[in-house]
Parts: sequence; C-alpha cells; structure tokens
Amino acid sequence: NALKIGFVGLGNMGAPMAANLARAGYVVAGYDTVVKEVTGVQMANTAAAAAEGADVVLTMLPNGDILRTVAAEVLPAMASGALLLDCSTVDVDSARAVAAVAADNGQIFVDAPVSGGIGGAAAGTLTFMAGGSEAAFAKAQPLFEIMGQKAVHCGAAGAGQAAKICNNMILGATMIATCEAFALADKLGLDRARMFDVVSTSSGYSWSMNAYCPAPGVGPQSPADNGYQPGFAAELMLKDLRLSQQAAEAVGADTPMGAQAMELYRQFVEDEDGLGLDFSAMLPRFVKQGR
Ligand code: NAD
Repeated sequence: NALKIGFVGLGNMGAPMAANLARAGYVVAGYDTVVKEVTGVQMANTAAAAAEGADVVLTMLPNGDILRTVAAEVLPAMASGALLLDCSTVDVDSARAVAAVAADNGQIFVDAPVSGGIGGAAAGTLTFMAGGSEAAFAKAQPLFEIMGQKAVHCGAAGAGQAAKICNNMILGATMIATCEAFALADKLGLDRARMFDVVSTSSGYSWSMNAYCPAPGVGPQSPADNGYQPGFAAELMLKDLRLSQQAAEAVGADTPMGAQAMELYRQFVEDEDGLGLDFSAMLPRFVKQGR
C-alpha cells in the first residue's frame, strides 16, 4: 500500500490498531514513550521521527493535554496536506485547538474517537465517530475500514468527541447499574451465570452485560476473567465522565445519572483501590461495600 502511516500512542488500544494497519500492508512507523515493540510496526525514537514523511499520522493518547503536546511535535514533521487522525478520547476544546493548528500549517485534522474496547481494536471492529471536513473524513475512510466496522461522520471538528462523551456517559452508568445488580443478585442467592442468561436476553441487556460482563467466568471473555487488568481502566472512565460533566456544565444540560457515575468512579479511583483496575472492577467494589 502506498500510504505511509505514523502512529503515536501504542497502548492497550493503539498497539492492536497499528498492528492491524501493518497487517493490511501499510508501512507503519510507531512511537510510544513506554511501549517499545508492536507486531509489524517499525519503532521510531521520537514522535516527530514516526511522523516524518507520513501521509497520515494517527494518535491514540491518554488525554487532551498530551494530544496538544504530541500534535506540536508531529505537525511540523508532517507534509502539507497530510492528515492528523486523533482516535483518543479528549475534550472538545483540545480537538478544536489541534484542528486549528493543523489548518494553520496547511494540514488536515479529524477527531475520531472509538468505541468497542480492546476486543474491537484487536478484531478490527471498532466504531469511529468523526469530526472534520468531508475531504478529511474521506481521506481517513480506508483506515477506518481496516480498524473498524463502522465510521460515522458526526460533523465539524470536535463533533466526534461530542458523540464519544455522550456514549461513554451511558457506558459509565450502565456498567455501574450492571455491577450493582450483580451484587444484589449475590445477596439474593441468584447464581451469576443464570443472572447473565436472563439479563443478556432481557430488557436489562447492554454492552456492559453482554459484551464485557463484569462477573468472572460469566459471559464472553472480559477483563473480569483476567483479574480486572484493563481493558479500559477505571481512571479512563473517570476521565470521560469528567469530560461529559464539564461539557454538560458548559452548555447547561441536566445529567444527574452522569454526575452520580462520575462521583462513584472518582471515589473508586481516588479514595479506594480502583486505580489501575478495569472499570468493570466496580463489581467486586459493590460486593465489598455491601454488609
Ligand atoms: P493506554 O494508557 O493503554 O495507552 C496510551 C499510550 O500513550 C501509552 O502506551 C502511553 O505510554 C502513551 N503515551 C503517553 N504519553 C505519550 C507521549 N507524549 N508520546 C507518546 N506516547 C505517549 O490507554 P488506552 O486504553 O490505549 O486508551 C487510549 C485512548 O483511547 C484514551 O484516550 C482512551 O480514553 C481511549 N479509549 C480507550 C478504550 C479502551 O477500552 N481502552 C476504548 C475507547 C477509547
């Protein structure tokens, strides 16, 4: 394949996404401050080196501040007309700020956060929600097709992040609801596998139950079966819930369930032992909190 790709941020999500692009035949140059090896990816020593001469640079980073820093490193190394494709979940303002810097440099930017978790990243079945111009979206489309099963063009720069924080506000609330229901089922003497059988085919079903069941040994393979190693870390869920609450505050939306989910994840990550655990570790947390 003729396109040359740079990929910065090769963690739980970025590594399998980059590996899928390499497997599809793209030349992928990668950089991560911690991760030093990814299948099929030629590792560079700096973010700028990974971006040098690339037609498209993807980023999959923890937050908006880091995105802004990395963008300042990679944009000067990229050719005019090249695409910076950020797949991280960040605040709308950071997405728009980086889009503006890219435009000033004659480059194009798409914010394209994803849904589908590490399973979707590995299988190439992510959903992308994208913000940017029609032309920029069209340029990213072939890559979306390799890494995902669906890409929705949500609007101008920042619209992808808006869709993402709304989605993850629902996710945080459904994971908590699923975990507290399992903890209640335990107390009621209801077997967890039976609970899964019923709810996964009844009106309480959700992605949290059906695809990412928080109970070990129940449902499909999930971080619960791996000692709650992330997966999607509780602190990243907390980050996303903070983003949705900040956004709600800014525009005057009433989001009481989102506020409660944010407070529970804040307690779990900051006051309890949730830091470094998957966000589905809310289940053992609720079991512990009960009397
Ligand atoms: P992660 O922490 O595993 O990966 C982030 C990577 O970025 C790390 O490997 C880190 O070393 C690297 N990094 C940090 N600063 C850097 C810098 N300055 N230069 C280069 N590399 C740097 O996180 P993740 O789970 O892969 O998530 C990445 C993004 O995707 C986050 O914004 C997250 O909210 C979002 N996301 C995650 C999931 C999930 O299930 N894990 C799902 C959807 C979206």
